[in-house]
Amino acid sequence: AEAAIADTTAIAVDVDRVSKIFRGETEVRALDDVSVGIRKNEFFTLLGPSGCGKTTLLRLIAGFEPPTMGAIRLGTRDISRLPPNQRPINTVFQNYALFPHMSVAQNIAFGLEMLGKPKAEVQRTVDEMLRLVRMEELKNRRTSEISGGQQQRVALARALAPHPEVLLLDEPLSALDLKLRKDMQIELKRLQHETGITFIFVTHDQEEALTMSDRVAVMSAGKILQVGRPRDIYERPAERFVANFIGESNFLDATLSGGTVELAAGGRFDVRVPEGVRDGAVSVLVRPEHASVRSGEAAEGETGATVENVVYSGEATVVHLRLATGEAMKIRLANAPQGGEAPPQTGGAAAIRIAPGAVTVLKD
Ligand code: ATP
Repeated sequence: AEAAIADTTAIAVDVDRVSKIFRGETEVRALDDVSVGIRKNEFFTLLGPSGCGKTTLLRLIAGFEPPTMGAIRLGTRDISRLPPNQRPINTVFQNYALFPHMSVAQNIAFGLEMLGKPKAEVQRTVDEMLRLVRMEELKNRRTSEISGGQQQRVALARALAPHPEVLLLDEPLSALDLKLRKDMQIELKRLQHETGITFIFVTHDQEEALTMSDRVAVMSAGKILQVGRPRDIYERPAERFVANFIGESNFLDATLSGGTVELAAGGRFDVRVPEGVRDGAVSVLVRPEHASVRSGEAAEGETGATVENVVYSGEATVVHLRLATGEAMKIRLANAPQGGEAPPQTGGAAAIRIAPGAVTVLKD
């Protein structure tokens, strides 16, 4: 049992102090001393805004570019200088890059034939892949005559066919419309689970990252700021950039003293103090759904505010508030059926109650 546990946490791809500098007219440090261990059999996502270095890191892992400094290992084997076709790694590109004049089955077979696999084995693997991505019915269609979502499945099947150890996916869903995208998110999760292949997925869409990943690395300006499970990234962001990039946030002024914060607007909370944060003035995060608000004056344990706006959006109502300090705060209330307690009215006094554990100290 111990061996099994050790095995599931074994490192598939070890990115060790990697920097990538592009030297053109100006010097661009696309990756700045990045280290991360991506585990076997995990759905790992690189998340960050445009230009943060996600694609560059993926290209280095694939072998399309060498690192300027540092090493990339597959397990313990240094592959930094190995050409792409000698790495047990495959990539699904944003534009799929299928051969339009070839059939679905021929597209899937192509890479295997290039590898010189025997005919019978190619046939067997193609059938297996067609089943895996549920495209058996369309195997003889040209890929120019199938939908975008179907092309996406073929691209996945083709990349999975040689049974790579690691599959790299660079924004593979960005060309699909929202509904199809949601379906493919679930489909991708299933494929990763069924094949047991390590997936490294690149996206700038935070919701996509949270719903699909075992772990997420949040990147900014060539650095990885935080690596964690979706829930930890969302509920315990290490710094303001991460909190801001993922989900909706309230940032409030507070004073930290020995594991307790006192909000400038009132209220004391026990908190976890991140490493490197000292007592004194701090900024804290409260997610909009981690507090509640009612009409009326604040009592003990509540924070007073005035209601500036109330926005109904179907499943929730967002109440925009102004605290005594002048700080803005928004609170998201799940909507109960009509006839329940009415949300506060614009212009009225309101009392905010922040859930225990909802106050996160940020190092910014
Ligand atoms: P996007 O989401 O827009 O694709 P990204 O996070 O994938 O962004 P990268 O494509 O990795 O970002 O780019 C990181 C930085 O490196 C950017 O500033 C980019 O302009 C620069 N860069 C990338 N490739 C090169 C190159 N070949 N030559 C010079 N600069 C480059």
